[in-house]
Amino acid sequence: MQDERIDPAALAAFLERLSAEILERGDWGKVADYIPELAAIDPAQFAISVALADGTLVSAGADRVPFSIQSVSKVFTLACVLGRQGGQIWQRVGREPSGSRFDSILLLELERGKPRNPFINAGAIVTTDALLEGREPKAALSEILTFLQSACEDVTVRIDPAVARSELETGFRNIALANYLKSYGNLRNPPELTLGTYFHQCAIEMTTRQLAQAGRVIAGLPGAPKILSVMNARRLNALMMTCGHYDGSGDFAYRVGLPGKSGVGGGILLIAPRRASIAIWSPGLNGYGNSQMGTFAAEQLARFTGWSSFG
Ligand code: GLN
Repeated sequence: MQDERIDPAALAAFLERLSAEILERGDWGKVADYIPELAAIDPAQFAISVALADGTLVSAGADRVPFSIQSVSKVFTLACVLGRQGGQIWQRVGREPSGSRFDSILLLELERGKPRNPFINAGAIVTTDALLEGREPKAALSEILTFLQSACEDVTVRIDPAVARSELETGFRNIALANYLKSYGNLRNPPELTLGTYFHQCAIEMTTRQLAQAGRVIAGLPGAPKILSVMNARRLNALMMTCGHYDGSGDFAYRVGLPGKSGVGGGILLIAPRRASIAIWSPGLNGYGNSQMGTFAAEQLARFTGWSSFG
């Protein structure tokens, strides 16, 4: 089906078939094991929800199971920072793909403490630091949560403190990144405060239904709450396309052709501008740290609907 105005019933039937096919394949990938709370999750799970421009939400699989959104949160933190201080953040973070792993420290020394983009960990830590400046972690976190709750029109979205604690105990690479950034003067707050905020932001949990609804603001769907400017939505989409899947971004763009942002919890937020906001969850990851079956599902969905950023 290659129709812009997709028929929700046909889409629902397709999602059911896709979900059944994925459960049958069983090619799940590996769950993230550097965060103990995530290591314990069964990889054999799948959910997909699609919020359409006509206001309907079409869904299949475990779409009411909350999962840790992890790096998908970075898009919303950046949305808050852009809304709050405009382009100032770009003095501290770049807008180029990094071509290296999401938790890499390699380029940070070469580029004197300015992370390549806001979606790799180093860049996201700086973005969170910018949101935190001049106030308590609670206030910054509440801004991100409120943004998400308003975007999906559901106040039950929450942070799972056990996941945040778990990452705090074992997040040695992020601790190293934060200290390294601080040594270059690119953190304004004490590293432990910024990291505490960052780990809690990553520990937000949502269902695919909620995340698909939240993404409507980035997709610019007609019924979406007006909490993000059109220009900032475009900017987020551009960065998701070029940097949203780390060193797998080029491959994702080639296979799927739509802006997306992944997280090590196995979530993917996928945007078909003006047409749909899609959330996919399957906790097993591929070699890039992106959801293995989530990526497969995104590719199949793009093929079925004909949605593409490239015409
Ligand atoms: N909280 C995770 C980390 O910082 C987020 C990374 C991710 O989802 N890719 O390692």
